[in-house]
Amino acid sequence: MKAIIIGGGIGGMCTAIALRRCGIESEVYEAVKEIKPVGAAISIWPNGVKCLNYLGMKEDLRAIGGPMDFMAYKDFRSADTLTQFSLAPLVQHSGERPYPVVRAELQAMLLDNFGRDRVQFGKRLVNIEQKSDSVTAFFEDGSEAHGDLLIACDGTHSVVRKSVLGYCTERRYAGYVNWNGLVEIDPSLAPANQWTTFVGEGKRVSLMPVAGNRFYFFFDVPLPKGLAEDRTSLRADLTRYFAGWASPVQQLIARLDPETTNRVEIHDIEPFSPLVKGRVALLGDAAHSTTPDIGQGGCAAMEDAVVLAMTLQSNSLGIEDALLRYQNKRAERVKDLVLKARKRCDVTHAKDAATTAEWYAGLKQESGERIIGGMCETIRGGPLG
Ligand code: FAD
Repeated sequence: MKAIIIGGGIGGMCTAIALRRCGIESEVYEAVKEIKPVGAAISIWPNGVKCLNYLGMKEDLRAIGGPMDFMAYKDFRSADTLTQFSLAPLVQHSGERPYPVVRAELQAMLLDNFGRDRVQFGKRLVNIEQKSDSVTAFFEDGSEAHGDLLIACDGTHSVVRKSVLGYCTERRYAGYVNWNGLVEIDPSLAPANQWTTFVGEGKRVSLMPVAGNRFYFFFDVPLPKGLAEDRTSLRADLTRYFAGWASPVQQLIARLDPETTNRVEIHDIEPFSPLVKGRVALLGDAAHSTTPDIGQGGCAAMEDAVVLAMTLQSNSLGIEDALLRYQNKRAERVKDLVLKARKRCDVTHAKDAATTAEWYAGLKQESGERIIGGMCETIRGGPLG
């Protein structure tokens, strides 16, 4: 059996590694010549970590993961702590630690694990054709690839999605802009082993420790789509949006490097359930595009990869049957993640001001139990428990 994998991001590389683990040959085709991840870092929650462990990257992941032991919310203006708690109960309940990692380091880990030279870069898929016993991928450069099945890991703008669904999906603007980057850890910004988030006015500023004495930081601001903002105005834009916010936020704005800070308008896609058609399957953001509000998009791609490989390996009724079983195992799970993230997004970013004010007030009463309970519920839904 040979699989064609389209896309060499988190989804594509995890799929290639998972298939290899199950003795299934694959070829990875990636559109760009060099992958430059759009975001600075990503938090991998225990459900994702377990998938990477299962795929043989336990030690490698620990080497690039940040020491996130505590979590805290702070008032935007006074920097007073609204709630602060240990993440030890999360680790205890789920059986794994969460690991915030730099995206470029995660991508390098995945590529090195599979074999960088085995990925065909500069191969942009433009079309696919499937027959009863094979699939052909057609690339922009006029070349073709042939396989028994095709796994589309070509991200949120997937060109394969339409041929699986039979219609085009629209990306939905979630109503806010996210800026993210990396900055050296300094206790005057936040404690080095804590995920710290300043909240107020429907905005947030977050600092998460990654390896190498760095914080992954991000700013969220509810804004209209399509504003003419870029690197040249970045510091001035953030200074304006966060006027009156506490000193650590002002220091972060002063210290960040606009050249390496990303600005992303956040979108998702209404969940859909056909994830496969015949010998073609969607995986990762191609199958489910979510807002990053519960940090689960990449983790879900890792879960997809593990489930797909297990399903193909354990099935004797053929590829089409195995892919349908993959769809049945994943459709509800990924729909749930997208909708949970959307709900969280709306509360965090003041879609309804009263609900968000209630959330801020609730944080003062929070012992951590409710927040960790919600995270554990999400994590437990993963394929490895
Ligand atoms: P992608 O990463 O988009 O990779 C798709 C790949 O396919 C790319 O390399 C692309 O070049 C290639 N490609 C595209 N079209 C073609 C084509 N036609 N032919 C060949 N190749 C093609 N997730 C988490 O789990 N935790 C987090 O903390 C988190 N934070 C996030 C923060 C932000 C601001 C954002 C925007 C997302 C965040 N996510 C997070 C989500 C996560 O980044 C995505 O879910 C994940 O990157 C999806 O991986 P993917 O491989 O499916 O898609």
